[in-house]
Amino acid sequence: MSPPASQPAVLTEGNSRVPLLRTTILRRIVRESVLVSAAAIVVVSLLSIVVVQSLLSERTLSQLSSVATARKDILEVTIQHDRERTAFTAASPELHALVQNWDPDSALLLLNSLRSQNSAVIGMSVFSPNHTLLGFTGVASVPFTGTLTATKVVPSLDRLGSWNGYDMYSPVYADGSVFIGYVAIYYDVAPLLTSVFGNLGLGESADIVLGRQLNGSVSVLHHYQEKNQTRVFSSVVADVLSPEGALLKKAVTGGEGAVDVRNADGIALLAAYRSIPSLGWGMVVSVQKSEILSGVQYFAVDLLIVSTLLILFSAIIGYLLAKSLTSPLKSLSSSLSALMPGHWTFARSVHTGDEVEMLDYIIADLTSRLKKTYDHLEELVAERTQALNKEYALDRAILESIEYGVMTLDAAGLITDVNPAFLTLLGYARQECVGRQGIEVLQLSQKKAIFTADTHPVTQCLSSLRSFRSSASMHLSMLKKNQTLLPVLLMVTPLMEEKTLLGAIVIFQDMTEDRQIDYMKSEFITLASHQLRTPLSAVRWNLELFNEAGATLDESHKEYMTEIEQSSRRMAKVLDELLHAARLEEGGYAYEKQKVKIVAEIKRIADENSILTEAAGMHMSVQLPATDIDVSTDPILLEIVLQNLVANAIKYSPKGSSISFVAEVLADRVEVRVTDAGMGIPVSEQKRVFEKFFRAHNVRQTDTDGTGLGLYISKRAIESLGGGISFVSEEGKGTTFTVNMPLI
Ligand code: ADP
Repeated sequence: MSPPASQPAVLTEGNSRVPLLRTTILRRIVRESVLVSAAAIVVVSLLSIVVVQSLLSERTLSQLSSVATARKDILEVTIQHDRERTAFTAASPELHALVQNWDPDSALLLLNSLRSQNSAVIGMSVFSPNHTLLGFTGVASVPFTGTLTATKVVPSLDRLGSWNGYDMYSPVYADGSVFIGYVAIYYDVAPLLTSVFGNLGLGESADIVLGRQLNGSVSVLHHYQEKNQTRVFSSVVADVLSPEGALLKKAVTGGEGAVDVRNADGIALLAAYRSIPSLGWGMVVSVQKSEILSGVQYFAVDLLIVSTLLILFSAIIGYLLAKSLTSPLKSLSSSLSALMPGHWTFARSVHTGDEVEMLDYIIADLTSRLKKTYDHLEELVAERTQALNKEYALDRAILESIEYGVMTLDAAGLITDVNPAFLTLLGYARQECVGRQGIEVLQLSQKKAIFTADTHPVTQCLSSLRSFRSSASMHLSMLKKNQTLLPVLLMVTPLMEEKTLLGAIVIFQDMTEDRQIDYMKSEFITLASHQLRTPLSAVRWNLELFNEAGATLDESHKEYMTEIEQSSRRMAKVLDELLHAARLEEGGYAYEKQKVKIVAEIKRIADENSILTEAAGMHMSVQLPATDIDVSTDPILLEIVLQNLVANAIKYSPKGSSISFVAEVLADRVEVRVTDAGMGIPVSEQKRVFEKFFRAHNVRQTDTDGTGLGLYISKRAIESLGGGISFVSEEGKGTTFTVNMPLI
């Protein structure tokens, strides 16, 4: 058998099939490199965004802190200058003169000189110690409330609460210690606001709030938003419970710092707060975090673009790498799939210098060794096939030449083969047998009874796995195709492989000739017995006449006469037994079953024999069931059997011993047991007891009359009635024979 050329044997051997490619190395490498690089890039990007955010926040906080400090310094320095200027003015002789005698011209002169120093000065007022306005030039100031001991600054608000200026009050002393009034210089706040609040450079959402303590609460003095470039409001009381208000309160009360908070609207802010202790004010500079971090979004977009490019790049690299790895593998696999019996050439094609080249080398080496092994195997197979063919031819020749019919069956009982003798003996053609059920072709009968499918030896053998071997005495016949019977000796043997049933082999021998010889023997015995009985009857009849005639004979003659009588009786018995045996053997004994009252019948036989036992000086105990029962049997055959058993018990027991004759009616059978306390049967010979002409060696000296046919006849007779016979015996102790008969 050669494998099909299109299917490489190496790939399709056994029941394993070529696996379907669910993926390729190329696809896997590309997929995995993309996945790995994408994961790495995402992680790195996220980390970078977080780091950038926190760095930005930190940087902004420090920026806010420095802006807050710078603006606070500007405010403090400006106010300080104004304060010094005011104090200086209050101490000047010009102002002393004005307090004592208000003169608008000299006041304007003084105001102008102050203005030349600071353009924010827009008014000057002079008050008496009891806060009476003595005179003013430019914008008038309001009187100072409270006691003025040093220069004080008081912010002034317009009607809407906007911070529009501030008054600097400074006491005026005469002679260095007499408080004669005070001066108020009014400053426009706009230049101050521009320098403190303008151009924060922190972004659109930058916010700066200046607050102060007023009447026990924190109020906003000025609030500036970079986006609108406007002064938003002032003089409102700050909500110190809001995060921003709380920060302002901290600043006003002397606290300083930089924090990350959320305002009342939930917007995240970065804020720095500073206190201005010289004024008792506080300042908060803040910016919205989202604005600061908006740059991060651009950074993230850039990162995304770069990441995508990187992933694409890694996919291309992965693809190129995988391609360079898999193309030698592909060429290897196509060279491998071309390998098959008759084509074991493998040309090396990979020169990559890596493991794949090593693999290529190993496969080339393996292929050359495989080729050698295959060639060797082919030689071996050819040799073995030749030897097997020879053996097969020899077996076939034996099978075909033997005169026994041989048939093989599979485990299901189907005929697999028959030999020519089988076909000749039964008259079938080979094709009429092979494939059919064995028991259909092999119809068997024993005497006239036909074997059913269940009782057929082939069925029995296949189910019980035991051999069947018929004996000549079974008289088996097979039905030939032409419906005539063929006497056979049959053997059925199961074919096993370890414990598995493979089938069975049936061998049979044509017994026509043997059966004919047996028949002729029986015929001869029957004829001879018949022919001998007639003269023997005449002898016995004449003896009886002679006795009845009462002839006077002396003692010695009487002894001769008795001897003649006994011999003729024995001879008649021998002839009877020969006749029975011959008839039973050839199947010519036509027994007739009839309804028999079994207990009465056994009792009759027991009674008849009690005379015999008494004559032998023996005691016979008889036990029979009280109620009788009808049994369908042949009374003549039954009598032959029981008579023989009782006769043997008497014959082979010493005088004076006892015999028991027991009958029992059981559920489905009658059991009769005859027990003696005689010489018994030697164990070594017990298996031959029912053979024709068998006599045990221990009885041959004591009793020379026996024929060895009695038990042979008994067994055949009782079996032909559907019963059975068995015994137990111990030499020197006694024997029990048991007969079983079915009730129907
Ligand atoms: P026969 O009695 O004529 O010899 P049987 O066929 O009746 O022939 O018995 C065959 C043999 O079986 C006897 O020769 C004897 O050896 C043995 N046998 C039969 N019955 C008994 C028995 N009851 N006790 C001892 N041996 C027996």
